[in-house]
Amino acid sequence: MPEQVPTELDVVIIGAGITGIDAAYHLSTSLPGKRFAVLEAHESFGGTWLIHTYPGVRSDTELYTLGFSFKPWTGDPYAGGAAIQNYLGETIEEFNLGSHFFYNKTITTASWSTELQRWTVSGTDTSTGKPFSVTTSFLWMCHGYYGHDQGHTPTWPGMESFAGEWIHPQAWPTDVDLKDRRIAVIGSGATMATLVPAIADSCAHVTVVQRSPTYFFQSPNTEPLADQLRGLSTPEEWIHQIIRTKAVGEMQSLTEIQMAHPELSKAGLVKMVADQLPEGYDVETHFTPRHLPHEQRVCRILDGDLFAKISEGKVTMVTDEIATFTPTGLTTEDGTVVDADVVITATGFDLTALGGVTFDADGEAIDFSKSITYRGMLFTGFPNLAWTFGSLRLSWTMRADLVNQYIVRLLAHLDELGATSVEPRLRPQDEAMAIGPYIDPANFNPGYAQRSREIMAKSGSTAEWQLDLDFWHEASVLPTVDLNDDRLVYRLPPTD
Ligand SMILES: Cc1cc2nc3c(=O)[nH]c(=O)nc-3n(C[C@H](O)[C@H](O)[C@H](O)COP(=O)(O)OP(=O)(O)OC[C@H]3O[C@@H](n4cnc5c(N)ncnc54)[C@H](O)[C@@H]3O)c2cc1C
Repeated sequence: MPEQVPTELDVVIIGAGITGIDAAYHLSTSLPGKRFAVLEAHESFGGTWLIHTYPGVRSDTELYTLGFSFKPWTGDPYAGGAAIQNYLGETIEEFNLGSHFFYNKTITTASWSTELQRWTVSGTDTSTGKPFSVTTSFLWMCHGYYGHDQGHTPTWPGMESFAGEWIHPQAWPTDVDLKDRRIAVIGSGATMATLVPAIADSCAHVTVVQRSPTYFFQSPNTEPLADQLRGLSTPEEWIHQIIRTKAVGEMQSLTEIQMAHPELSKAGLVKMVADQLPEGYDVETHFTPRHLPHEQRVCRILDGDLFAKISEGKVTMVTDEIATFTPTGLTTEDGTVVDADVVITATGFDLTALGGVTFDADGEAIDFSKSITYRGMLFTGFPNLAWTFGSLRLSWTMRADLVNQYIVRLLAHLDELGATSVEPRLRPQDEAMAIGPYIDPANFNPGYAQRSREIMAKSGSTAEWQLDLDFWHEASVLPTVDLNDDRLVYRLPPTD
């Protein structure tokens, strides 16, 4: 790995998670002449899969689609953090991407110069504490979507009085011993559902405290078609593409069914859970969500592990608002007392806009929350900048890969035109359009999206000015979409 970041680059990619690695692959294979660097705040690649080390951490979607289009996944469909990290490391090595990656580089500011038509990207090298800066023509934000410094922890009355230990799964301590301790896990999503079965056997007891339930889909961690194809000595590249296509098709059909028949889908998912729990279990209270299935991700339970721990009496569900913390635990609004030695806040994360970087153009601050998005990836007021935002219902990588290929096409188009920059701009006929949140809450509304509405860019009232949440539709449009769209303003050098 090189030490010094080259100071003059064509493209800077921020973030060495799945998205940044995918971007580096497409850039280096499609435009091999580009000078580029991937700058990463952490000490290694992986992003989510490097940062999260809590017991039981694993993917919630299968790796045939969470993995890359160009690198077959050969393991179990759902994988733990270490296996995913291993796959990402292999990808960097196999495609000779390592020389472009620079770690311990936290980017804090980016300044656009209209005169130079370049960004100056500055930050701190956290291994030395020294500031550094590089200039680049294009800035490609692959920083994921949530804050990596700390997870989201709501504030509850009496928190300071709790005498036990607090843990957020995003910062799992290396030295914690949960053996024989009473654990309260606050939260209802994928983190809760993967963490709880992993710790339930060794703890004295686990109580899950949730405000409202989540939908769960339960399955074994197998992909019979892949196993069958392997038995027929089918090349892994083929198996990967077949299962990937099948998985996306299934997810797409499921989403369509959920949208067309929400109540029926709800009943089906709730019954799937009820079938895993003892007769008479209060499924209505603990596993019947208030939202509809398509409005938030449906979490995956593998081999019924969470339900088995509930059935064995090792895990108790409490569904209610927390009224107050006490020195020995917490009390909920209906008066339920939960005694705990350790509280684990599996309460999710906060969405970050553009990786926490502060932006200006020619010395004037640019406010991301005032920007309108072009197709969920470019932003008015931000020349030569893209944010690769992945899929929300399917594996994140499906959309990330689609968007990354569009960005590479856009970079090639800039070269063909001899243009120095591209920026989306509202045309006169767009000025009066209705403005809404970046993620349409009528379509998808998890807590982090609702909490971040103020800081996020906005969308307009036509498809070009919106984040497309329909992967199938976008996949049919984006690869051939006209790059000479009059919503995109290209700047050409003076001709004299
Ligand atoms: C526990 C957990 C499980 C998940 N499971 C799934 C799943 O099964 N399927 C799915 O589709 N999605 C899942 N997700 C969502 C997941 O974040 C994405 O799938 C995917 O890993 C995101 O990849 P990414 O590269 O875009 O972002 P990240 O993995 O978040 O990586 C972004 C990188 O950018 C770096 N970075 C950010 N800001 C800066 C800066 N200013 N300067 C320098 N570097 C910066 C970060 O350090 C980080 O390494 C999960 C999320 C979590 C938290």
